[in-house]
Amino acid sequence: MIIILAQSATDSDIDELVTNLKDRGYGVHLSKGIEKTIVGVIGAHDSMKPMLAEQLSSLDYVERVVPILKPYKVVSKEFHPDKTIIKVRGVDIGGQKVIVIAGPCSVEGEEQIMEVAQAVKDAGASILRGGAFKPSTSPYGFQGLGEDGLKMMDAAREATGLPIVTEVMDTRDVELVAKYADILQIGTRNMANFALLREVGGVKKPVMLKRGMSSTIEEWLQAAEYIANQGNYEIILCERGVRTFETMTRNTFDVSAIPLVQGLSHLPIIADPSHSTGMHALVAPISKAAIAAGADGLMIEVHPHPERALKDGPQSLTPTNFSILMTELGTIARAVGRYT
Ligand code: PEP
Ligand code: MN
Repeated sequence: MIIILAQSATDSDIDELVTNLKDRGYGVHLSKGIEKTIVGVIGAHDSMKPMLAEQLSSLDYVERVVPILKPYKVVSKEFHPDKTIIKVRGVDIGGQKVIVIAGPCSVEGEEQIMEVAQAVKDAGASILRGGAFKPSTSPYGFQGLGEDGLKMMDAAREATGLPIVTEVMDTRDVELVAKYADILQIGTRNMANFALLREVGGVKKPVMLKRGMSSTIEEWLQAAEYIANQGNYEIILCERGVRTFETMTRNTFDVSAIPLVQGLSHLPIIADPSHSTGMHALVAPISKAAIAAGADGLMIEVHPHPERALKDGPQSLTPTNFSILMTELGTIARAVGRYT
């Protein structure tokens, strides 16, 4: 439930309320907006809620107590009406600037990642991506370079100053990946791996949660709730397309998910035009559509030699094409009151 405080509530009233709730064993999330202060209460058992609501409503400085009826609470907009801005090494995700994350599908070697990192930085990207632990549909496919790949990402960050995002697939690797990554990526195949979600929920690093390829928006937000529920509120949602009957594209990009999620949650949402289409020729138009629909950012695969890429070459942009796209995106961003 959420407690909306009266305008007259003082700091000491707020402290008293928070202490009272914590002493009773509830999780408390304070959200001080410009107009209203909202206190989110987590962990109240359904049978306790009516009594708790009655007790809290009797306080002078409480305007009203509202139950959150949705299956996700902490990540809902009711819980935290202002948009969440996630800060990663000086980059704000969820603010006015549309953030572009770019890099290869997989780290293939030091030379490759350094070359792409420099190229995407020069083109205006804010964050570098690169997989070291790769989910592969085939057990015979490239599985990534593991910790060596993480070290190469670290070196690329050192050289360019770009923060890095990389995927973690196994609860046993969370500590290792968190040692190197600025943002932990949960891939589409693991969106409903609840043990993994809980594990990254306990880490003090932002998490990028991709939408499950067959997941509804409500299931996706509940997956985010698993992370937030552990105390990690720094979650970036990533729409990466869902499976439909269409076979020409790798997935079907759900553009409506962007404004829908923004109406339901305070978390930033970005789009992945690479995995959602599987085709480099569609990356530019889908990137533009995502920004026009209000996305807070994009994640785009870039490879210096897509024809030689170990993974996802057909959907990767060359550095030149990425640079052209970056210029075009500025115009779209400005048309919707943002910038790149
Ligand atoms: C990726 O971004 O590297 C990836 C594997 O994406 P997805 O989980 O969306 O397939
Ligand atoms: Mn990929």
